[in-house]
Amino acid sequence: MSDFNSGFSSGFKLGLVGVGKIVRDQHLPAIAATPNCHLVATADPHASLPELPAYQNLEAMLDAHPEITAVSICTPTHLRYSQARAALMRGKHVLLEKPPGATLSEVEDLIACAKEQGVSLFAAWHSRFAPGVAQAQQWLAERQMQRVEIEWKEDVRVWHPGQAWIWQPGGMGVFDPGINALSIATAILPQPFFLQQARLLVPSNAQTPIAADLTFTDPQGASIEAAFDFRQSGPPTWDMHIHSDGSRLSLTQGGCRLVIDDELIIEEEEREYQGLYARFAELIANKRSEVDVAPLRQVADAFLYGHREPTEAFIE
Ligand code: NAP
Repeated sequence: MSDFNSGFSSGFKLGLVGVGKIVRDQHLPAIAATPNCHLVATADPHASLPELPAYQNLEAMLDAHPEITAVSICTPTHLRYSQARAALMRGKHVLLEKPPGATLSEVEDLIACAKEQGVSLFAAWHSRFAPGVAQAQQWLAERQMQRVEIEWKEDVRVWHPGQAWIWQPGGMGVFDPGINALSIATAILPQPFFLQQARLLVPSNAQTPIAADLTFTDPQGASIEAAFDFRQSGPPTWDMHIHSDGSRLSLTQGGCRLVIDDELIIEEEEREYQGLYARFAELIANKRSEVDVAPLRQVADAFLYGHREPTEAFIE
């Protein structure tokens, strides 16, 4: 069972597993802004952070610091399951970076394991914490949508420099960012939606797509089109437009900007990871888990049902 026995009063002591781009860009500032979260140590075979105890793997970190009550797993996705399971089995609360696993089955096992151990497991879909998402969800809740257009395009060389794992099985290729769009869509669209067809463009030297065009529908026959592309140059496009009963909702800039019928409703800086850590603290304090596999299931469906087309090799 967990050795964590208090809520917000004493906070939680955190270990970080994997010290890469997302930890430096997002986790560290968010942890610093979370009053109840105390960063104790890191585990990464090569990387470390100044003035913080560093270990080469999760087990060594937990052996040296039994006071750690929670870990954030921020390694490449194919490592997520074994590390998360090891932490759960030692009674630690676990935050899983997105995607929560390389397969659906392993995430299901983690859910069962967290329940058995009586600790909190949090599948952290950071894009759901973007400023416009909650209001978009509210606006759509009572509506029938007819058409959705999603464009999620970014330059892989800018956003994933040198990350060879992204082209390997489990790395998900363009679905690594595309799953963020799907995490928003599965949260705000009022009906479940299902893949009808997918075209996956796979570089000749990779196992995962560099671009994907997806067509979904819902039980009422709405049309949901998504275009994901890693070959964007210049600024990213992280936009979705939803047509509903003669109105149009646009959630753009990754969810930072919300416009409904040409009226600007929200335009704010993103602070997604502060929201994530606040939710993690809340889940721990309330002895709850939150693991929604819906975005990962959509990706699994695309890999299950999509047409693969070879395209030119990706050279970084
Ligand atoms: P990254 O820069 O490649 O960082 C991953 C880190 O984990 C690297 O330092 C890596 O070391 C280390 N690592 C590898 N094996 C390890 C092990 N066995 N134990 C501990 N650490 C290990 O990747 P990232 O961009 O931070 O992404 C990590 C995860 O966060 C991915 O699942 C990604 O989908 C997710 N994410 C990324 C972003 C983004 O914008 N980059 C945004 C949101 C979520 P080596 O480099 O030496 O192998």
